[in-house]
Amino acid sequence: MSAAIFEVYVPETGELVSDAAAEQELLASITHLGIAAHPDDLEIMAIDGILKGYAKGGSVFGGVVLTDGRGAPRAGKFAAWSDDQLAALRKEEQKTAARIGRYGALVFMNYASQDIRQRNAVVQSLASLLIMARPCWVYTHSLLDSHPTHTAAAWRVIQALRGLPAAMLPERVFGCEVWRGLEWLPERFRIAFDCSERLELQRELLKVFGTQVESGKRYDRAIPGRRAANATMDEPNAVDNARAVAYAMDLNPLARDKTLSPRVYLREILTEFEQTALSPLPDDA
Ligand SMILES: [Zn+2]
Repeated sequence: MSAAIFEVYVPETGELVSDAAAEQELLASITHLGIAAHPDDLEIMAIDGILKGYAKGGSVFGGVVLTDGRGAPRAGKFAAWSDDQLAALRKEEQKTAARIGRYGALVFMNYASQDIRQRNAVVQSLASLLIMARPCWVYTHSLLDSHPTHTAAAWRVIQALRGLPAAMLPERVFGCEVWRGLEWLPERFRIAFDCSERLELQRELLKVFGTQVESGKRYDRAIPGRRAANATMDEPNAVDNARAVAYAMDLNPLARDKTLSPRVYLREILTEFEQTALSPLPDDA
């Protein structure tokens, strides 16, 4: 069933899984699952799961990439490349990152960006995958991301989770920062991942994406910089207790409560932030 809707790449062997039983076995061994819109997003947002998988070895971390990223901006030596050429290379870059980062599995869903934003088909594919994998932790995009395909992807993941029986739900669901940092989130909605270990590996995982980095999107500088800034700028009255931190918003309430509207949830976050931000000012200021 699944072979028609997604392809599963095994970084350790460099092969695609062709046999349904092997696919089921591999996916079932994944405990930490990242679900990203584009090639390169996993390395930005799911670094906590990637580092855990790298440290433990075996099939701890699995990555899912929903689109092939064919619409990305391009420059330099990629300026004249067609969408097909770019999509093919971005896929290879993603496979390379998965090998370097020792991911247990890498799943390509090959949707177009507008499918994520406009069609429900992706929800069914994600539900099938989640039933096969039964991960403990899920990392996806933040609902406050400023890239519309990222926000749509996060909502599709929540929809897929809401369709699962309660016993199949992961323990934790995180909406991770990519476009728009989350350091400002009120404490009870914010998860801080300490990613102080293997800083060089983290940079390598971003440099792999030459189509982006060499076109002038310097994720290899920006993301380690953001993580270092998160670590230092967290608390004015304390010294740093991490070298690098990545933030996520808690998506558990939305995954578990089918009646909770994402707008209501986001408004709760924004209202609490507003109250905190305005509280140092006198009422008449
Ligand atoms: Zn992206």
